[in-house]
Amino acid sequence: MSQAVGLSEDEFLNLLDQVQDFRDRVIRPQVVDWERNRIFPAEVIASAHQLGLLGMEIDPELGGLGMSFGQKLRVLDVLSEVSMPYAFSLVNSHNVAARLARHGTEEQRGRFLSDLLTGNKLGSSALTEPNAGSDFSAISTQAISDAKGWRLNGEKAWITNAASSTVIVAYVQTDPGSRARGIASFLIDGTQPGFERVAPYDLIGSHAIGTGGFQLDNYLASHADLLAPAGEGFSAALATINEARTYVASMCCAMIEASLRSAVGYASERESFGKPIIKHQGLSWQLANVANQLEAARALTDKAVAAIEHGDSDSAVLPAAHAKKFATEIAESSLAACAQAMGANGLREEHLIGHRLTAARIANYVDGSTEIMTDRIAKSLSTTYRSVESTQ
Ligand SMILES: Cc1cc2nc3c(=O)[nH]c(=O)nc-3n(C[C@H](O)[C@H](O)[C@H](O)COP(=O)(O)OP(=O)(O)OC[C@H]3O[C@@H](n4cnc5c(N)ncnc54)[C@H](O)[C@@H]3O)c2cc1C
Repeated sequence: MSQAVGLSEDEFLNLLDQVQDFRDRVIRPQVVDWERNRIFPAEVIASAHQLGLLGMEIDPELGGLGMSFGQKLRVLDVLSEVSMPYAFSLVNSHNVAARLARHGTEEQRGRFLSDLLTGNKLGSSALTEPNAGSDFSAISTQAISDAKGWRLNGEKAWITNAASSTVIVAYVQTDPGSRARGIASFLIDGTQPGFERVAPYDLIGSHAIGTGGFQLDNYLASHADLLAPAGEGFSAALATINEARTYVASMCCAMIEASLRSAVGYASERESFGKPIIKHQGLSWQLANVANQLEAARALTDKAVAAIEHGDSDSAVLPAAHAKKFATEIAESSLAACAQAMGANGLREEHLIGHRLTAARIANYVDGSTEIMTDRIAKSLSTTYRSVESTQ
């Protein structure tokens, strides 16, 4: 659950103006280049520390901004209007800092927190492996204890920021065959022997996420590197999953809204058959449908934000699943409808709709795929919608 009380509205709006300025001055001019040249913009992510964005939700006493969860989402939305991959990378590094701030030991914080907050080092959370994605309990990276600590062996795949992150929260199995019961988590230092980076994947887009993997070959983790012991690693990984699902939903809403604004602007100027194309009912209804779905996705996301900010973690499970499933499912069709309304011009790179389309595709996998969201909702049906009438 989000614990920060948050900045005052004045302080927050002032910061939001600066984030918009940073986005338009620094990020926007580079997004197309990142895609064309498959660049992971580690320095630009690090430079967000000037606004404190690598410590958004972290307690000010530990060097963060102390934002509420809802405020963090509004910052991520502003960034996602231009580049959801950038925002996703940023928040993933932020999450490692937040994890250490809330649950790390004094020693762990001393070792890594200030470097994460200044962007000197980037963070990753590594659950997924080449043979285990949705079924997280099936991970096989193994931890065996020895006199010096733990020896870790295995491979992690599809990890955000893995192109250059060096502070990694890695989930491992301590007792093969025991599934969730044996999962522990360790802090891995990507500069140490036994850590080998796998080259970032060639993807269809969203290179700013820096998705890649790494191998652990007899990597020595000391006792001081243990974050969550066996039996607690699984629940620690899921502790903030509702927040992640909700910000992914929110980022999708931001991408749709930005594209809808472009499409409405374009369709109001461009003429066909003697009038602005938005005056053709067939076209305006397409965009009205996008607006309608966007409003519904926003309402679901707001409900999940309220559950996270005011409820316990259990009460956020379903709202977050509904929000993520709906927002990510409508994102691709909505973005495509906006591109369609702009005719061939919708294909131009500078309108960023292609960039957003790939990001929307990715949103359907990260932090629990669409099918896993549907399964979550399905499992709740009999308690949420139990019939009061006799079924005989
Ligand atoms: C850009 C990007 C960044 C990522 N960042 C991270 C990261 O930082 N850290 C990390 O640990 N992981 C990360 N991931 C991995 C992501 O969490 C996984 O892709 C996701 O968990 C799905 O796993 P998978 O891709 O192995 O698909 P699989 O689990 O192999 O599933 C394949 C398909 O089967 C479906 N499926 C699986 N099980 C069921 C079921 N029970 N019922 C119905 N359908 C099912 C899935 O929904 C999917 O459509 C990232 C992925 C991407 C693309």
